[in-house]
Amino acid sequence: MVGGLNKLLFQEAKKYIPAGVNSPVRAFKAVGGIPLFIKKAKGSKIYDVENNSYIDYCMSWGALILGHVHPLVIKQVKNVIIKGTSFGAPTKIETDLAKQICKAFPSIEKIRFVNSGTEATMSAIRLARGYTGKNKIIKFAGCYHGHADYLLVQAGSGLTTFRSMFNVQRSMSLGVPKDFIKHTIVLPYNDLNAVKKVVKKYQKYIACIIVEPVAANMGVVLPKEDFLKGLREICNQYKIVLIFDEVITGFRLAYGGAQEFFKLNADLTCLGKIIGGGFPIGAFGGKKEIMRLLAPDGAVYQAGTLSGNPVGVNAGFATLKILQNRNIYKRLEEKTNVLCSGIIENAKKTGVNIFVNRIGSMFTVFFIDKKEVHNYQRALKSNTQQYKKFFHKMLEEKIYFPPSQFEASFLSVAHTEKDIEKTIKVSYDVFRKI
Ligand SMILES: *Cc1c(COP(=O)(O)O)cnc(C)c1O
Repeated sequence: MVGGLNKLLFQEAKKYIPAGVNSPVRAFKAVGGIPLFIKKAKGSKIYDVENNSYIDYCMSWGALILGHVHPLVIKQVKNVIIKGTSFGAPTKIETDLAKQICKAFPSIEKIRFVNSGTEATMSAIRLARGYTGKNKIIKFAGCYHGHADYLLVQAGSGLTTFRSMFNVQRSMSLGVPKDFIKHTIVLPYNDLNAVKKVVKKYQKYIACIIVEPVAANMGVVLPKEDFLKGLREICNQYKIVLIFDEVITGFRLAYGGAQEFFKLNADLTCLGKIIGGGFPIGAFGGKKEIMRLLAPDGAVYQAGTLSGNPVGVNAGFATLKILQNRNIYKRLEEKTNVLCSGIIENAKKTGVNIFVNRIGSMFTVFFIDKKEVHNYQRALKSNTQQYKKFFHKMLEEKIYFPPSQFEASFLSVAHTEKDIEKTIKVSYDVFRKI
């Protein structure tokens, strides 16, 4: 039963760690209750300290596309870890991984590794500003690009819950001076006309447009046909740097990320999550012409003590090697489609209003009575009370969905047909109860 040892550990954690967690959404504030304290994991399952096993649709927020503890990844990590964990000097494997990523993304000619997605977006934006000599950036409401000051404006992910809790205005966080966000222009996702208008007006000042090519931090929200293409055209026309934040979509939607999926090229790309194979990593890369401005070749500074550390880079390399088998993406898509179709059918049968956005192996079940969720404003109309009930009833049945309506669910290679059948079956009973 959840409430025994999990509860004790949570109480203890809260004494020493704010809210007991090292990243906000983990605290279950959006759904209430006590977070699971995880002891171990394998394949599609996580095990809490009370020895319950759960089918995991969170998968470390999308990082673990191969499932937990994939034997080949673990083997490679074990082999390198005994030879040293950090040298603060270059290693061959960094070039190997860089080469592999450059091959996967034709738009990435050069790449640099950092320690998190947050660092990747921060550095990409600094680089875009350095390259263009301009200050303003355009981002889209509901897109999350890590927690740099000037990106915490109408950002998704944990901030969606957080803001309503504290009624924080303008920036979504205290501690961010207004001056720091005055160069951030926020526009509605999927609204190309809004972009055109703003770009015309501020063209002399805009360094870059940063976008999640598929938004996954307000729940999954798909780009409308021509939205991304339109951004590409506007950026070409006005010489604005187009940054795709592919921290989630990279190696998730397709091996070559959203850029392969939608047949488009960004100028700079941010990566993270999957490319670390479960270890802390991030990366940003793009055109040589832009990347050559990076220190020490150029005058845009960026650095990191543990950047490109051999453990994460090896785990990422092993992961990408497996993902090169393109059949993986087809299978993932099929499995996810079966799961989502089953859930949709059961909602219909039981008269629960949901709308599911799915692409490839990522999806969100929105509890909403609308026929479309295409931007942040719409996503916020979701019935979060109903999601809360759904989340806890599923959890009782040992199925772990992300603990917030505004996060993506993910499938991995390790999810079995049996997992999916069980989830669909349970969803019927759960929908009936809520
Ligand atoms: C997770 C995420 C980030 C931030 O990455 P961290 O490693 O958590 O700093 C940035 N952008 C997107 C799209 C993400 O999903």
